[in-house]
Amino acid sequence: MTVDSSPDGRLDRALASLRGLAVGDALGSQFFVPANYPLLKRRGLPPGPWQWTDDTEMASSVVATLAVHRRIDQDALARSFAEHHDFDRGYGPAVNRLLRQVREGGDWRELASALFKGQGSWGNGAAMRIAPLGAWYADDPEQATHQAEISAYPTHQHREAVVGAMAVAAAAALTAAPGGPPTPGALLDGVIALVPRSAVEAGLRRARDMLDYADTTTVAAVLGCGRRTTAHDTVPFALWSAARALGDYEEGFWATAQVGGDMDTTCAIVGGVVAAGKAGTPPTEWVERTEVLPEWLSVSVAS
Ligand SMILES: [Mg+2]
Repeated sequence: MTVDSSPDGRLDRALASLRGLAVGDALGSQFFVPANYPLLKRRGLPPGPWQWTDDTEMASSVVATLAVHRRIDQDALARSFAEHHDFDRGYGPAVNRLLRQVREGGDWRELASALFKGQGSWGNGAAMRIAPLGAWYADDPEQATHQAEISAYPTHQHREAVVGAMAVAAAAALTAAPGGPPTPGALLDGVIALVPRSAVEAGLRRARDMLDYADTTTVAAVLGCGRRTTAHDTVPFALWSAARALGDYEEGFWATAQVGGDMDTTCAIVGGVVAAGKAGTPPTEWVERTEVLPEWLSVSVAS
């Protein structure tokens, strides 16, 4: 079986992953509303429409950049992030400020490297938006990690944030690869082989070790589930959860959301990775309740 490497084939896969990401983001964020807590316990759906957050807004820029440039052009990506930045979509304060400054003519290279006293952000923003890029590069997981690496820098320059993005892109590429989704173990082994030594990688090794654990809450307590909103306390658990739910979007969503934490982001990552695979499409009803993807995206991908 071969993978469709035409620009249209790549775009179709990236959009399928983006839809999965948007549903995870939008539905996950509903459970920050206290009135919806009881629904989460019994896996009930809140009434629509479910609005997506910064995860989907930024992921749309990633897909738009790929559609136009056929790779990650960092300046184009930074421009798209800044241009489409909607303050009310739940961005972190540092990224809010950075994107406003880029919009006012600032240089993302200087601004992003100066964040957090020159360490760069180690938040999960680079990872939460990148699964569709992995789907785009289903024919070349190594290239997926390379492009994910350069896609991180316009906002996230700390090593952990960059590796978090590489890991998620690798997972989506391996899930979208011909032959259908790999086994959970093969997926995490494949990701670990593609990312450099880091706290994210150490977390992934631990996640690999815990694939047979039935108790998701314990695993989330060990690996972290985004409560610190860092790449290394978000990505290992999200990929553990995605690996166990390949081909079953609903199960992946609920298992991820039910442990709490940074639910829009963990569910965006799981949704984007699972939906990168042919068998991982979200339920139609869920897609229908989710706010439609941004209008500017359809304009970009059509041009
Ligand atoms: Mg968000």
